[in-house]
Amino acid sequence: MVNHDWSSRFGAAMMGSHATPLTMLERGEGCYVWGTNGKRYLDFLAGIAVNSLGHAHPALVDAVSSQVATLAHVSNYFATPPQIELAERLKRITGAGERGRVYFGNSGTEAMEAAFKLARLNNDGGKRRRILALTNAFHGRTMGALSLTGKAALRDPFGPLLDGVEHIDSTIEALEAAMDDTVAAVVFEPIKGEAGVVDLPEGFIVRARELTREHGALLILDEIQTGVGRTGTWFTYQQFDIEPDAVTIAKGIAGGMPISALVTFGEASELFKRGHHGSTFGGNPLATAAANAVLGEIEASDLIGNAEQRGTQLRELIREMGSPLVDEVRGRGLLIGVGLTEPVANKVSAAALEAGLIVNAANEYSVRIAPPLIVGDVEIDEFGRLFSTALEAAQ
Ligand SMILES: *Cc1c(COP(=O)(O)O)cnc(C)c1O
Repeated sequence: MVNHDWSSRFGAAMMGSHATPLTMLERGEGCYVWGTNGKRYLDFLAGIAVNSLGHAHPALVDAVSSQVATLAHVSNYFATPPQIELAERLKRITGAGERGRVYFGNSGTEAMEAAFKLARLNNDGGKRRRILALTNAFHGRTMGALSLTGKAALRDPFGPLLDGVEHIDSTIEALEAAMDDTVAAVVFEPIKGEAGVVDLPEGFIVRARELTREHGALLILDEIQTGVGRTGTWFTYQQFDIEPDAVTIAKGIAGGMPISALVTFGEASELFKRGHHGSTFGGNPLATAAANAVLGEIEASDLIGNAEQRGTQLRELIREMGSPLVDEVRGRGLLIGVGLTEPVANKVSAAALEAGLIVNAANEYSVRIAPPLIVGDVEIDEFGRLFSTALEAAQ
């Protein structure tokens, strides 16, 4: 691939909805990627919490190569072994157990569309029409998911959006005030990822579970960014000892192969009836084999324990840098938000890239860090040097 002029070729060929890419990448291995400019980067974004096993991990390479050479796609008129294996695995790791059921899509936004339709089915003969979501939440960009997304800049060009969704402040008081028997579902991320890795107030998740039970509403958790071991448990709600009625999963589940899932618990598993939803690609053997390989490797190598430990190590390291730009360090496990005292996140991420480190400016006040779950001491040491260089450069 010729490197010259990639930026103008991108602009002339790709839809204008894309931001200008930061650089052009051509290969990866472990926690590193290489640009067409020959430069090596330490990847502490992992394709936005997607490359759970890093790049070109043999477990994923082998599973995808052998599955594509065996059976890649058959349509939903047929079952395949990797599909059933993955559904059973998801029932186990979510804790949904015997009564759990799984629907497969191809992207996070599709899992949220399925969740939205699930919420509509919990309507109690038409009496429940309201869905509560949070301001600043991100749930995807197709029209249903976008109706749940709570960011005006993403929503406003595309109105009218779907009826019935109300965005409330992320406080227990706001939730209590909005809750009644006309609410079909409460939908939120356990940590708001796109908002800059923002934690919910203490007690929010547990209170949401109580209130949804009391009023017959579904609790639907979007764990598309927070799930699959990243925050130190398979799913973040497991750290609060609660079970949702449904959880959406995507990003890190298959290390970069497109697949998502909606997992329902208990009675919520009975809402979807035959013919209610479907997808041509959803749950195909290639994507489900990839997910089985990734989840299997996370389990076999205890990458969840690694996420927890390395997360603590990284948080301490960032605090110890003592940079006047660092206001707070948010998130759990290997989903980290660095809150800045000045609106210079883009400067920090640009300086990091220049130094050979990929991190993400989620907004002007937040740097998002989400390395592969395989990250070890060598990469963390290198991150420490490069990130403090970047903070100094941006100061
Ligand atoms: C990324 C993300 C989505 C959307 O997933 P896509 O695969 O981009 O459609 C939805 N919710 C959350 C919390 C996400 O982080």
